[in-house]
Amino acid sequence: MKKTIFTVAAVLAAMTFPAGLSAQELRPEVFGLLDLDWPGLEQVKSLHAEGRDSLAAAALLDYYRSRKDICTPEIQDVSKVKISKTQQKWADEALEHTFYVHDGYQPSFNYGKDINWQYWPVRDNELRWQLHRHKWFSPMGYAYRVSGDEKYAREWAFQYMDWIRKNPLADVTKDDYEMVSSGEIKGDAENARFAWRPLEVSHRLQDQCFQFQLFIDSPSFTPEFLTEFLVNYHRHADHILHNYSEKGNHLLFEAQRMIYAGAFFPEFKEASVWRQSGVDILNREINVQVYEDGGQFELDPHYHLATIEIFIKALQAADLNGFRDDFPQSYIDTVEKMIVFYANICFPDYTNPLFSDAKLTKKESMIANYRKWSKIFPDNMFIRYLATEGKEGALPDYLSKGFLKSGFFVFRNGWGMDALQMVVKAGPKGEWHCQPDNGTFEMWYNGRSLFQDSGSYVYAGDAEVMEWRNWFRATAHHNTLTLNDKNLETTESKTLLWQPEGDVQILVTENPGYKDLKHRRSVFFVDGKYFVIVDEAVGSVSGNNNISLHFQMPRGDVPNSREDMTFYTNFDDGSNFMFRCFGPDNMTMKKEKGWLSTAYNKKVQRMNVSFNVKKGDMPAVRYITVIYPKETAGKEPAMTAKFIKKDFSENGLKIQVKVGKEKKRTLGYEL
Ligand code: MG
Repeated sequence: MKKTIFTVAAVLAAMTFPAGLSAQELRPEVFGLLDLDWPGLEQVKSLHAEGRDSLAAAALLDYYRSRKDICTPEIQDVSKVKISKTQQKWADEALEHTFYVHDGYQPSFNYGKDINWQYWPVRDNELRWQLHRHKWFSPMGYAYRVSGDEKYAREWAFQYMDWIRKNPLADVTKDDYEMVSSGEIKGDAENARFAWRPLEVSHRLQDQCFQFQLFIDSPSFTPEFLTEFLVNYHRHADHILHNYSEKGNHLLFEAQRMIYAGAFFPEFKEASVWRQSGVDILNREINVQVYEDGGQFELDPHYHLATIEIFIKALQAADLNGFRDDFPQSYIDTVEKMIVFYANICFPDYTNPLFSDAKLTKKESMIANYRKWSKIFPDNMFIRYLATEGKEGALPDYLSKGFLKSGFFVFRNGWGMDALQMVVKAGPKGEWHCQPDNGTFEMWYNGRSLFQDSGSYVYAGDAEVMEWRNWFRATAHHNTLTLNDKNLETTESKTLLWQPEGDVQILVTENPGYKDLKHRRSVFFVDGKYFVIVDEAVGSVSGNNNISLHFQMPRGDVPNSREDMTFYTNFDDGSNFMFRCFGPDNMTMKKEKGWLSTAYNKKVQRMNVSFNVKKGDMPAVRYITVIYPKETAGKEPAMTAKFIKKDFSENGLKIQVKVGKEKKRTLGYEL
């Protein structure tokens, strides 16, 4: 018989249950899930073969406590973990069962002394789904490592077991998880659709690697608990393996986290299957979800960024654990293109347009991202420039840049804070997070974005949540054109002309829009100083059908004049505009309440402006809008604009514009 050696602590731990953890049981099935021939598990194997499972579990714990060759990209040395003030707060509040679930719902809710995992104080699906991501668990681990205070480990182990006990995995279909199934679901299945949605499961799958690293040395991490943990962990990975989301960013998140699971727990018999499933999905989906210009197919800056992070994390896990060759060079090249895409569409202060379901990024977190990316792409001077705030590296040798497949077009006259930059979104039909906003834009000038997108505010939930969701998604609440304020029926823009160089740079983009009305938008960037936008609504709709051109105004002092259809700003920070809309004689102006959301469940009021024309029997309704950014406040310069070609033509247009004291300019193109 093989000699068995244990640490004293492990033997003691095998024989005693710390108070409050009595729900833990030794789960002998764990020995069937592990490959007991794995190097280092020899004692576990022989003890289990002898039927001495308590001692086998203690030996298994010993193995994991002394295992040194495996780590996560996030925690490569547990002795060096730090905790932020905010994480400390989450950890401390969690001791009282006040759980940090969602940034959009602060302060956090309390889930009761006897934790109620079905508590749903606001009927936003995200709030209930994300409870099951256990975002406070890893902060408890940091608090434990930094302080050495056992209370964090004890409470984490308690909550971990409490969650298992109260959230059984019921038979739920894929449609149920995404809340799109018909009919009412009750009991365990009703709860399981939240607790066991694959995206949430994958979140736990990843974060439990960190928790395992952080808590493994704690006396509360008993051999019995280890068996509970591993059985639960296995069930998580197995659940994802058989319930991968069909597509989109969920599928990518799940795949990347399965790579973590396989890499971090290679002792499981199925570990290589988990890892390989994730690798295969990422290698396949990077070609499906990322266009050749580097844009991700949800056409949403936030999810674009999240997707970059997914691909990068998988690479880092591969690097650390010796399977980098699983990803071909084309994968790495695509990630680099995605970063360059993102860097182009963002503004000089590192913030992003709020298109689709995007939230506003923060400069410090973006610099941290660029620093990390710069290590992976050391030869990319643009990434290095952004990582070092211009101290090293170099800017691209171009200014304006189009991403034609994704339909993102960037006009700019520079890269500095004082630059003028417009980002137009006019792409193909986007996936879930994309909004019906074809033709919309944001314009940055001298320190901020002056035509910020409304953002997204919330995702899905009860009727009230959905009403808000739909307000922010609405085409009419963008900087584009609508028919009767309705949402676009078709979102499939075609680029007719993209001319990113010269004194007059031009984008011409056309979207079918509605059954009998298409929208052609022509943007002229004149002398790097101002924009002229020509909107043409063309089609057989007639009579009282209303064509509206919408603009979302910045917050603050934005006076207007109905006489000449102008809006201008009176800001004292050197970032102002004046714009004037020229339309048919019967054009009216309307001002309504608008909103701006830069973070989930946060919004502020502002003004939503539209210029409205009854279609009547005109073949096309045509507008010219001159947008003039400037440092000074007030209603100037004077502007005039008119069509020289009187009627809409498929083949091009010609207009004449005069701004201030400048000479008259003729702008146009022929297709
Ligand atoms: Mg939007």
